[in-house]
Amino acid sequence: MHTNYHDNLCSNYELVIIGGGCSGLSLASSLCRLATQPEHVPRTLIIEPRSCYTDDRSWCFWEAGVNAGQTDQKSADLVARSWQAWQFSSGSERHLQSSASGWKYHYVPAIRFYDQMEKQIARNQNITLLKGTHVMDVNPADHHIEVVFESGPSGAINEPRKVAAKQIVDTRIPKNVDVSSALLKQVFFGFEVNLDGPHQLDDVARVMEDMRVDDEGFMFDYVLPLNRNSLLVEFTRFSGKSLPPESLRNDALKSVRRVCGDLEFQVVREEFGVIPMGLSSHVLSTDPRWIHTGLGVGAARPSTGYAFKRIQRWAERCAKGVLCDGTGRGFQPDSGLLMWMDRVFLRAIAGNPAIAPQLFMSLARDVSPDSLLRFLTDRPSPRDLIAVMLALPKLPLIRCALAELYARMRTANRIQSWHAFL
Ligand SMILES: Cc1cc2nc3c(=O)[nH]c(=O)nc-3n(C[C@H](O)[C@H](O)[C@H](O)COP(=O)(O)OP(=O)(O)OC[C@H]3O[C@@H](n4cnc5c(N)ncnc54)[C@H](O)[C@@H]3O)c2cc1C
Repeated sequence: MHTNYHDNLCSNYELVIIGGGCSGLSLASSLCRLATQPEHVPRTLIIEPRSCYTDDRSWCFWEAGVNAGQTDQKSADLVARSWQAWQFSSGSERHLQSSASGWKYHYVPAIRFYDQMEKQIARNQNITLLKGTHVMDVNPADHHIEVVFESGPSGAINEPRKVAAKQIVDTRIPKNVDVSSALLKQVFFGFEVNLDGPHQLDDVARVMEDMRVDDEGFMFDYVLPLNRNSLLVEFTRFSGKSLPPESLRNDALKSVRRVCGDLEFQVVREEFGVIPMGLSSHVLSTDPRWIHTGLGVGAARPSTGYAFKRIQRWAERCAKGVLCDGTGRGFQPDSGLLMWMDRVFLRAIAGNPAIAPQLFMSLARDVSPDSLLRFLTDRPSPRDLIAVMLALPKLPLIRCALAELYARMRTANRIQSWHAFL
């Protein structure tokens, strides 16, 4: 394995990837997959602080089926479980959906992803994955970018090392991005549990179960029946405030107890996180050789927090750029209309969390599953967009649309006056 190759490091790399998480490993994997010959992959170093990967999360996403002609072999190898039906519920109302053209909701356990990526990278002599190491500094110079890093446990006295890179792809949250400034934060805490007996749930992914509101805002459960005797149950809040995920542990346990009913359960795994929804900052790289990507620069869809498939699409595009003309690509922004709709939607929930269940339930009730899925996975047709707009309650959204327009005009005016001033 080309891991922890501390003594065999070169002094120069064509590409240094900072962070061997979802984005970094996906890029390396796309480079391996898309290169016509393994030796065509540029000499690449991935620097990752973790010394070993654990099953720290699960990635779920919708994907079009064979009928829609978009099955992705790479995802198929990673997927451990798929559902053909999914459900939204609030109070006594529930909407069970499935797709006419074969869309499925897929589940990828992180450890399967990390294992496969590591194996694929290890087969390519040109890529080194350096684990247990974190980047301390990045210094652009005229002919290269210097990357300073340190191996070993943080706090120990370790000698910093340096390599020179032609370009870097940086997957850390950039220093000038303030996650707490996101309109909403999706905060969640979940448990994978084994049950003492079979549960009675249908084979349906409950993607937004029991949407409800309390003094702290909008919340729901997320319930995946992994098999007859095991479940993933997460408790999620959309919060304007920055909440530590740990503060949701008890609520998550209550959700597990509610879902399991009389069955005894054992917790086999925990997962938690905070996903920024509607980050206002844009990272304009001052150096084209230093590409920022990942959650801090728009990897997550603002209105849903889903990021995995978007990261796969970016990785493929970036790898093609590296292989074709030697230049990586940053994250492509969503279309102006989609961004605007997402911000109006988030603004409506942030301003009045009580409306959130009604907004999501209207979409589930009044938009056809295929249209809704194309919208949620960033590929809506004009017809899908109209269907989404027509389904949503008008008055609160018009108010938020005007507020968003006003906010945009103020930002544009501020930028103009700065330009005039400069
Ligand atoms: C628990 C959890 C569940 C999620 N579930 C879903 C889901 O179901 N569907 C979905 O679409 N999205 C999901 N997401 C959102 C998103 O897909 C993930 O957060 C994804 O991992 C983001 O990829 P990334 O590369 O931006 O960040 P990461 O995967 O976190 O990678 C960033 C990497 O940078 C490394 N790093 C940090 N500091 C340094 C340093 N100084 N030097 C070098 N490296 C450094 C980190 O160790 C990390 O490996 C989930 C997120 C979490 C946290």
